[in-house]
Amino acid sequence: MSIDDDAMLADLDELCAIPSISGSAAEVEIQRHLASRWRAEGLVVDEWDIDVEGLLGDPQFPGMEVTRREAVGVTATLAGDGTGPTLMLNGHTDVVPPGDRDAWSGDPFEPRRMTANGEECVVARGACDMKAGVAAMWAAVRAVQASGIPLRGNVLLAAVSGEEDGGLGTFSLLRRGVTADMCVITEPTDLDIIPANGGALTFRLTVRGLATHASRRTEGISAIEKFVPILTALEALERRRNADVDPLMQRWPLAYPLSIGMLQAGDWPSSVPDLLTADGRLGVALGEGVASARADLESAVAAACSRDPWLAEHPVEVTWWGGQFASGRTPPDAVVITAMQAAHAAETGTDPQMYGGPYGSDLRLLAGLGGIPTLQHGPGSASAAHGPDEWVPVDQIRTSARVLARLIVDVCG
Ligand SMILES: [Zn+2]
Repeated sequence: MSIDDDAMLADLDELCAIPSISGSAAEVEIQRHLASRWRAEGLVVDEWDIDVEGLLGDPQFPGMEVTRREAVGVTATLAGDGTGPTLMLNGHTDVVPPGDRDAWSGDPFEPRRMTANGEECVVARGACDMKAGVAAMWAAVRAVQASGIPLRGNVLLAAVSGEEDGGLGTFSLLRRGVTADMCVITEPTDLDIIPANGGALTFRLTVRGLATHASRRTEGISAIEKFVPILTALEALERRRNADVDPLMQRWPLAYPLSIGMLQAGDWPSSVPDLLTADGRLGVALGEGVASARADLESAVAAACSRDPWLAEHPVEVTWWGGQFASGRTPPDAVVITAMQAAHAAETGTDPQMYGGPYGSDLRLLAGLGGIPTLQHGPGSASAAHGPDEWVPVDQIRTSARVLARLIVDVCG
């Protein structure tokens, strides 16, 4: 079965030219673009307006970090005769903002070819994370469709929004009743198999002090100084939570990072600050529940407060907001894993590596909430994601499409 590489790379360029930053109008535009392209290729397309307001009230809603009134869900089916399993290929079409444009060698939304480490790459915001994966799964379906090989099971292409800030799109997909017997997310994994993800919970700490003029600072209480013992306690907590990690996560120097990403305090140089907020992310271990991870952080903060007279009286508040990614994993004997190992080995002549990812993704929604055995396998390196001159090697995109086409035939044929 042959992949039309030129069509695939042209599709990728089209996708990269749409600046589909999470929460932007283009996030909707790219979904509509895929729906119309897939419809034109003869796939059975389901395209729906996501009820964002309604989903926000769902107790299991996975979180959202940007303002978004509108979002669109899209699936496209290549139908089998109904006697075989359904394979979902899932990819998100939203991207993070480009960051400092001066760090880019060109416009982030004008895709171009560059050579890096002797490899031809596509460079654009979202090229690696993960429009190359979307283009590859699309090309694989197109190749199977063109081959005329009869399928028993359905192949389902799912394009989702809002992955970068929580997982609105995949959550909406599951709430719509879309299901499958197994799923591959074509996130950038360097074509390794990732059957498990650590989770990540966004939190805010609010530290209160007592304001006064800085010339009489000993009469006030600085919220910045009161944050110091809290930060020390969080560092100790991170060490403890990483002392004994699951074998799937042992390749990472730090499997479950606890990191403060935003800090805000004070409103005047000559005032003692009476308020500090710190926003961060707590890594969730494989097999650990969200409630237990939250309780671990809350009790570490409470213990640190109890050792300080002011904080004992004015405890630091912990709130959970934004992306709430549980951890997730697919059992090692799941068909999707063994079938992917076989397809990868057959196409590349090498066995894929397998390990857990240290970040949260839609895997936990599909595997957890959806009960769909899911793995990640896709072109590009996660270390290229979210940075300037985001790149993905063309060779890996081609290989990904071939592996996926073989997987479709092996599983659904
Ligand atoms: Zn991604």
